Amino acid sequence: MMRLIIYLVWFFSVLAMNAQTKGDLLGRFDSQRQGTHFVYQWNSGETTEAEIDEAAILAEDVYQKLTRVFGKQYMPSAKLIITFGGEGLNRKTGKKRTPNVDFQGRTHLYRFDMGGYLTPLPHELVHAVRVGRVNWQGFFEEGIASGIAYHLYPERKGFPRFGFSLDLIAGYWLNSGKAIPMRTMLNQHRRLNLKCQLQTYVLREDFFNYLINQHGLNNLVNLAYSELLGSDEGYTKHFGKSLETLAEKWEADLAKRFKKIDQADALVSDYFQNTSAKYIPVCEAGADY
Ligand SMILES: [Zn+2]
Repeated sequence: MMRLIIYLVWFFSVLAMNAQTKGDLLGRFDSQRQGTHFVYQWNSGETTEAEIDEAAILAEDVYQKLTRVFGKQYMPSAKLIITFGGEGLNRKTGKKRTPNVDFQGRTHLYRFDMGGYLTPLPHELVHAVRVGRVNWQGFFEEGIASGIAYHLYPERKGFPRFGFSLDLIAGYWLNSGKAIPMRTMLNQHRRLNLKCQLQTYVLREDFFNYLINQHGLNNLVNLAYSELLGSDEGYTKHFGKSLETLAEKWEADLAKRFKKIDQADALVSDYFQNTSAKYIPVCEAGADY
């Protein structure tokens, strides 16, 4: 009987532990650590304890900030899983692994030259706390993730700007006529998002940051949890203008900001010649979209 009781206590404590973590833990990792709001998983030969320490500090900081941005009611009640999968770029094959959040809300990170594992963490955690919501529009989710990550951590380096300013890089695409129109990015999100990643990630980051600065973070958050998310009406209701008008006003604002930059041409060529941007293909109007 005692054995049975011990077994039952063990059984229910295992159930309770699982109930506190969102999604299934992955078996391919040999190490695991419980944090306040996260469970971290990695392989000991591939990732150091120091990297996990550093990631855990940033992850908790992001969590606190997102709680203030979205409100406690929209934060997950269970711990979120973050995995660390080693090198993002295989130097032999040239194959790149993209940090992502899966449908169970698990964040998968890979190590890159600039910023190690940490650069995409604020962006990915915006996805992670929103996975499972009924209304979901790829363009909006990528935009809000980049916009809020920039709003909270403007100094972060790595993809897609590699340490250069948002005004400079977004402004360059606009000024060179290689800015993919906002409507095209929205309608063809699945096809263009990764294929044209050097353009899509920067342009959306600047557009959503513009929405936050011009219309307030609250209006963006209200749309993010609105029934109208995913419809054109959502933009009109929460920002008072259609997506086309918002995009026009944003372009005018960005053009002004870009004009003010000294030596923009030299900085842009530095970006394309001396950062990982040189390895990423650029989409062309007419051929790709
Ligand atoms: Zn994303």
